[in-house]
Amino acid sequence: MPRKPLIAANWKMYKTPAQAQEFVKNFLPLVTNHERDEVVLCPSFISLSVVIAAVTGSGVAVGAQNMHFAEEGAYTGETSPLMLKAIGATHVILGHSERRQYFGETDEIINKKLKTALQQGLVPIVCVGEVLAERESGRTEEVLLRQTRGVLAGIGAAEAAPIVIAYEPVWAIGTGKTATPQIASEAHEVIRGEVKKLLGGGVAENLRILYGGSVKPENASALMSETEIDGALVGGASLDPQSFGKIVKY
Ligand code: PEP
Repeated sequence: MPRKPLIAANWKMYKTPAQAQEFVKNFLPLVTNHERDEVVLCPSFISLSVVIAAVTGSGVAVGAQNMHFAEEGAYTGETSPLMLKAIGATHVILGHSERRQYFGETDEIINKKLKTALQQGLVPIVCVGEVLAERESGRTEEVLLRQTRGVLAGIGAAEAAPIVIAYEPVWAIGTGKTATPQIASEAHEVIRGEVKKLLGGGVAENLRILYGGSVKPENASALMSETEIDGALVGGASLDPQSFGKIVKY
């Protein structure tokens, strides 16, 4: 069965609840009855409830940009998977490169979060990707293998089905430099090959691997026409409803 593409908007630390609601009002008419792709909006924690209420009945899903690995506890300032589920979030981005870079997230922490997300029935969108210096020194494959092994450590084939991986080369995030479809495809093949070794052919074949890094309406269709690319994680270009609508309709 072909993999259903997933297009996710990562709004990062942008949009107040009122702005998020306004986005949804303008975006939903652009994607009415759009069933080819799974569409997910990931606002900040503070806007999750507003966006969840605003998309009700539309087929558009809502995810968080992060979560803690514990179900509850004395972790001031954190948000748990139970809380996300309780308000109706269905997806969660884990290990975004900005979390790795600015908040010290490691593959080990992301792995713990991934396990909890799976236990709680959230669809995890787990990010991996090399920085520019790693690509330029020929270490992309090594980095992708290390990250893929690290985030998936201890996860069995029986529980892995909901996992989505986002390949996000850090040099392409927010820079306007997109990986060519060929570069992205090669990276996806490395990740899928490793998942096959770790979790078997069935899981690897069904695994959705998204590309993220300066996806725009102008380059979405070339990227998405690659058989290895099963969707997109979109930052900057997802902040505007028209632009994100065009990407969803690539
Ligand atoms: C992202 O934040 O995941 C991302 C890919 O950002 P941008 O599309 O702006 O490069």
